[in-house]
Amino acid sequence: MERADICFRDVNGAVASLKVKKDIQSELEVSLMSTRVAYFSAEFGIDGSLPIYSGGLGILAGDHIKAANELGLPLIGVGIFYQKGYFKQRIREDGVQEHIYPEIDTAKLPLVQVLDREGRPLTIKVPMINRSVYLKAWCLHVGQVPVYLLNSDVDENDEHDRRLTDNLYPSDPDMRISQEIILGIGGVRLLHALGMEPDVWHMNEGHSAFLTFERIRSYSAEGIDFGTSLEVVKSSTVFTTHTPVPAGHDKFSMQMMDHYFGDFYWQLGTDRDTILGLGRLGEEFNMTRLAMNTSSRVNGVSKLHEKVTKGLFHQWMPYIPEQDIPVESITNGVHIGTWLSSGLKELLDRYLPQDWEIRSADPAVWVPVREIPVEQLWEHHQRVKSGMIQKLGFSKLKSPEGTLMIGFARRFATYKRALLIFQDLDRLDKIVNDPQHPVCFVFAGKAHPADGPGQELIRKIVEISKMERFKKRILVMENYDMNNAKWLVQGVDVWLNTPVKPMEASGTSGQKAALNGVLNCSVLDGWWNEGYNGRNGWAIEGAMKGSMEHQARVDSDTLYRLFEEEIVPLYYKHNEQAVPVGWVNKMKESICTLAPRFNTHRMVSDYWNRIYVPTASRGKRFVANDFEIAKRVSAYKRFIREHWNKVSVKKKNTFSTQGTRIGFTETFFQVHVHLGPIWEKDIRLEVVGSDGKDGIWKVKLKLAEKLENNLYRYEGSLCDKHDALLHSNANVRVIPVSPEFNNDFEMELTAWGE
Ligand SMILES: *Cc1c(COP(=O)(O)O)cnc(C)c1O
Repeated sequence: MERADICFRDVNGAVASLKVKKDIQSELEVSLMSTRVAYFSAEFGIDGSLPIYSGGLGILAGDHIKAANELGLPLIGVGIFYQKGYFKQRIREDGVQEHIYPEIDTAKLPLVQVLDREGRPLTIKVPMINRSVYLKAWCLHVGQVPVYLLNSDVDENDEHDRRLTDNLYPSDPDMRISQEIILGIGGVRLLHALGMEPDVWHMNEGHSAFLTFERIRSYSAEGIDFGTSLEVVKSSTVFTTHTPVPAGHDKFSMQMMDHYFGDFYWQLGTDRDTILGLGRLGEEFNMTRLAMNTSSRVNGVSKLHEKVTKGLFHQWMPYIPEQDIPVESITNGVHIGTWLSSGLKELLDRYLPQDWEIRSADPAVWVPVREIPVEQLWEHHQRVKSGMIQKLGFSKLKSPEGTLMIGFARRFATYKRALLIFQDLDRLDKIVNDPQHPVCFVFAGKAHPADGPGQELIRKIVEISKMERFKKRILVMENYDMNNAKWLVQGVDVWLNTPVKPMEASGTSGQKAALNGVLNCSVLDGWWNEGYNGRNGWAIEGAMKGSMEHQARVDSDTLYRLFEEEIVPLYYKHNEQAVPVGWVNKMKESICTLAPRFNTHRMVSDYWNRIYVPTASRGKRFVANDFEIAKRVSAYKRFIREHWNKVSVKKKNTFSTQGTRIGFTETFFQVHVHLGPIWEKDIRLEVVGSDGKDGIWKVKLKLAEKLENNLYRYEGSLCDKHDALLHSNANVRVIPVSPEFNNDFEMELTAWGE
C-alpha cells in the first residue's frame, strides 16, 4: 500500500507525521488539516488484555479508534483507566455469578504515563464538592491514534478519592457522578493541558456530557458571556445516543447536582437554574437531555434506532412532531481486523482484490466471495469451528464438529431475553436431541454486578443446562469477553439474538458473526432490520404488541418453527462430499451483503464525512472574528425567546375549489399571524399534515400582506396533497429560522394554529 505523510499537530503540540493512504489523500487532505476530533467514551474495548469495557458500547468505541487509525484520521480518544477493570466472571455449579477483580498490571500493558513539559507525571485537577480530585493520565497508542485514560489513584488524593476510578459503571450514584466529572471535566482539562483544542468533541453516549460544562467554563474564564459560550460549545459538539429506553439514561437528582456543582455554576457565567435547565427532565437532571442541549447533532446507531430516539425525544417536546425531531443515524459496524478469523482472512486474501481490507466498505470488493468453491469455504469454517471447540473445551460432546452449533452470547440484560428459547422445553428437547440432526446451544455473557434479574437469567440457564435431556445440548461458557467473543463469533454456525423489539439500538456481535460466515437468526431489530434481505440469514419479525408474555410466546414460536423447518434441515442437507451446499451458499450471501456495510471503515467514513467535517467547519465559523457568529446567534436566540409568546396564529381559512380537470382540487390556505416584534424574515409559516402513514408533509406559506400592528397575512395552496389532506388533520405552525441554525428545531420552539 502506498502511503504519504501528512503533518498535523500532535498531542504534545509538536508537529507529527500521520500516515495516510495515497488514494484518499487528496480529498482528505483539506479536511484532515482542519478536523481534529476528540472522542469521549466511558469505556473502550480495544484489546482483551485491557478490561476497561463492559459490552457493546466499549467494543464499538475501540473499533472506532482502530478504524480511525487505519483511515489515517486525526482522532484522540478520551476515557478512564479503571484499575480493577470490569470483572472477570466465574459461574458456580449452582449458576451463581461470581465477580473477580484481578488488579491490572500497567507494566504489562502498552500504557505510557502522560508527562508534563518538565518530564514529571502530568496531574489534572477536577473540582469535587468542596475539594479537588487529582488525576493522572495514561496514553495508549492505537497506531497513530492516542487514547488518553484518566485515573485517580494518585498520592495527592485521600484513600476514598484514589478508589474513584477503580471500577466500571459503579451503581452508587455518588461514584457514578464522580466518574462522569472525571471523564467530562477531567478530559477537557487534560486536552487543554496538553495544548490541544479539538475541532469536534464527540460524546459517545451521555456519560461524558459534563465536558460541555467545562468548555463553557473555560470560555467564561476568558470573559465570554454564557450565551455565546454555549453556542460555541454547541457548534462543535456532537452526540451519539445508544439507549432506546429512558431507564438506560444516566440521571441525577437536583440535590445531587447542587451538592457537586454548587460551587461550579457561577463559574459558567450564569445562574443555577439555567445550568440545571440544560439537563432538566421533570425533577431530575438527565445526561442525555444535557448532551442533546449542548450539541449540534445527535445520532442514533441504526435507522430503526433513529426512529425510536425521535419518538423518545418527542415525549420531551410534544409540540414538535416526531418526524421533525433532529436526530440522524449512522449504523454501527465492526472492525474487520479485530473480528475476522485468521483462517478466513487467509481465504479472502486469496480471492479478494489485494487491498480489500482498506476498501472493505466497497461492496464490489466482496463479490469474489461467491467464487470461492463451496468445499473450501466449508472446510475452512469447520477448521475454525474445531479450533473453537478445543479452545473452549466443548470436545467432551459427542462429535461436536458435526453438530449444528448456535451461539447466544451477550450481556445478560433482561431485554435481550436469553430465556426465549426455553419457553417450551419439550419442543426444544425435540429440536436439540434429534439423533440424526443434533443441535447444541452455547450461552455466554456477564450480568452487571448490581443487576439481580440479569444474574438470575444465568442461574436459570445453568439449571436447564444440568437437566439430563439438555446436558450435552445446552452449554454455558464463563467470562464472555473480547477474547472469548472472538472464538464464538467465528466458530459457531448460527448467531442467535432475541431482544424485545425495539430495545436493541444496533447490536454488533451479529455483525462480527456475519463477517465470519456465521448465519444470523435474529429479531428484526437494530442493525439486522437493515441487514436482513430474505436470503442472508433468518428473521424473527418481532412482536411489538401485547404483554411481554404474549410477545415472548409469539417470538419463541417463530423461533422454534425456523429451527424445525428451515435451519436444521438446511444445515444437514449434504451433497456426496458431505458439504451442505445450500448452507454454504447462504454463508456467501451473508458475507457479500453484510460485510461491506456493517464494518467500521464504512461507519467511521460516515462519521467523518457526514458529521465531523461539517461540524468542524461550522465550529470554526462560530469562533471566527472574535466569536462573531456565536455572539449573533446567542443574541438572536435571546430575542426570539423573549418575544416568542407574542407569536400567535390568529385566523385560519381553508377553502377548496374544483379545478377544470376532473378530480383535481386545489386547497387554499389563508392565515393571519401575529408576530409581535419578531421580523417576518425570521420565521417560517407552514402547513403540516400527516400523510396517513408514517410521514408528514409540509407546505410553506408565502407572505401576502403586511397588515397593521404586527399582523401578517400568509397564503398558499396545495393541489397534489389533496388525498393526504383528507386523512390528516392539517394545521399551521410558525417556527423561528436562521441560516446559522443547524436544523429547524434548534430552539425547540413552535407556535401552532388552534
Ligand atoms: C461485540 C461484543 C458485545 C456487543 O454485542 P451485542 O450484539 O451488542 O450484544 C458485547 N460484549 C462483547 C465481549 C463483545 O465482543
